[in-house]
Amino acid sequence: MFEALGLMVFYENMLALNNVSLTCGEHQIIGVFGANSAGKSTLMYTLSGLMLDIAKKEQRAGGERITIRGQLNYRGGDIMNLRPSERARAGIILCPERRRIFPESSVLENLRIASYLATPQQAAETLEFVFNLFPPLTKITKRLGGFLSGGEQQMLAIGRTLMAQPKLLLLDEPLLGLSPAIQYWLAKAIKEIAEQRGAAIIVAEQYARPIMPIIHYGYILENGSAVVEGDKDQLMNNPDVKSAYFGA
Ligand code: ATP
Repeated sequence: MFEALGLMVFYENMLALNNVSLTCGEHQIIGVFGANSAGKSTLMYTLSGLMLDIAKKEQRAGGERITIRGQLNYRGGDIMNLRPSERARAGIILCPERRRIFPESSVLENLRIASYLATPQQAAETLEFVFNLFPPLTKITKRLGGFLSGGEQQMLAIGRTLMAQPKLLLLDEPLLGLSPAIQYWLAKAIKEIAEQRGAAIIVAEQYARPIMPIIHYGYILENGSAVVEGDKDQLMNNPDVKSAYFGA
């Protein structure tokens, strides 16, 4: 349902993504693992269209700093030139790194803001799903986003993207800064989203350990290149992956 072919992104002369190709089938969870600066956010921005927006703004400002090359096929069409809002309407929704929730809006307001792409019926049904998936949110519906713990913020950020009715959900480092117990709990929730919402998910993470068990296929990103790929058994049995991510 989704295929990226030969993605290249240059920041000025620096190559941030080097010929990256990946595929994601309906209902699949795809992992993209990499250390700091490997290119995970660049990839997620390129898939969601934000990179295209940033590149256009740079160009209008007089520079040609960012160059994007490659192909993005989604449900039979090439979406490389679609704006982020058009991609969102087609069901490609990004949950950005560091959550970006609205600090001065309540939990419920944060969720409702994102339902602009949903019918009232879908919004009501999805709200119920989000509260069932993340029970701690039910007790803090009126609390302002800025007063939530890291874990609560991440639940809210994922809940908010669900309200936008994703068909392809892009999660950028959802486990960042969270305790191992919450990381494992969230990984389970991500699996439930794929199973129960019928959404495909691409998750970019540094913390491979909690995410690896829930993926169908994964890629290891190093300095902008996908250096290893495979299903979870192939990745977990790869000696380089083992030593870099599992301390073995
Ligand atoms: P992190 O875990 O730190 O978020 P990442 O894997 O998401 O890392 P990116 O943020 O995609 O990595 O960055 C990839 C490389 O591109 C890094 O070397 C980074 O410094 C560089 N980079 C990112 N954004 C820009 C930009 N706007 N201009 C120039 N270089 C950039």
